[in-house]
Amino acid sequence: MARPIWILGNWKQNLLRAPAAALAQALAEGLERAQGAHAAGEALRVGVAPTYLALDAVRPHTGEGPGDLRLLTQDIAAQDSGAFTGEVGPAMLAELGVGAAIIGHSERRAHFGDHDALVAAKVQCALAGGMDVVLCVGESLEQRDAGNHESVVISQLSAALGSLDEALPAGRVTLAYEPVWAIGTGRTATPEQASAMHRVIRSWLDEQGLAGADRSLLYGGSVKPHNAAALLAAGDIDGFLVGGASLDASKFLDIVSAAS
Ligand code: PGA
Repeated sequence: MARPIWILGNWKQNLLRAPAAALAQALAEGLERAQGAHAAGEALRVGVAPTYLALDAVRPHTGEGPGDLRLLTQDIAAQDSGAFTGEVGPAMLAELGVGAAIIGHSERRAHFGDHDALVAAKVQCALAGGMDVVLCVGESLEQRDAGNHESVVISQLSAALGSLDEALPAGRVTLAYEPVWAIGTGRTATPEQASAMHRVIRSWLDEQGLAGADRSLLYGGSVKPHNAAALLAAGDIDGFLVGGASLDASKFLDIVSAAS
């Protein structure tokens, strides 16, 4: 089975409810038009992750079928429910139509204390709650300059997935390699750099028995319409997690077209 191509928009802390709904509507309409034009079918999956507060405003424009715009969350609690002020768990998100959670984004790791063990607990909680997961990993510029990028990424992967309860379906975890130095900086990893890291990740997954024929491996970090096609052509890159360019319907749809 061919691996699905995912194009996911991470809206971060942007967009009030009305503009979020308007953007989702524009994307849903664009996808409907593109479906006719490209017949991309089930192999292409497109989704967006609004803030928690805009989920229900965006929901009417989303669905789980082929060609639908999918609804994701940018984060999730590490526990189901209880005395955890400020947290939002999987059942609450499922009730709003969310099918998957982005976990371990570098901004969460850097600014909100999402260390490896917490990321692992979130992955565990999301899967146990029936949510799919998009797990983000990636090295800082210092780590790359020191030549440690591969070991950093492998240790993040192994912390998040190595201790996963065997009963949980690891097949529902999509991975996103996002070098921190490429996020929001306009400095994209070259197709060669991204593809090389993707090969390292794949071989680690193979060794762990986690390869999964349909497990997609996404790249994120300053993906724009002008660099999307070259990144996808580099090999072993099964789509993108897009930040800045996902806030603009025409840019995001151009990235989707590059993958169609
Ligand atoms: P960017 O963000 O596309 O703005 O670099 C990517 C991300 O944070 O997922």
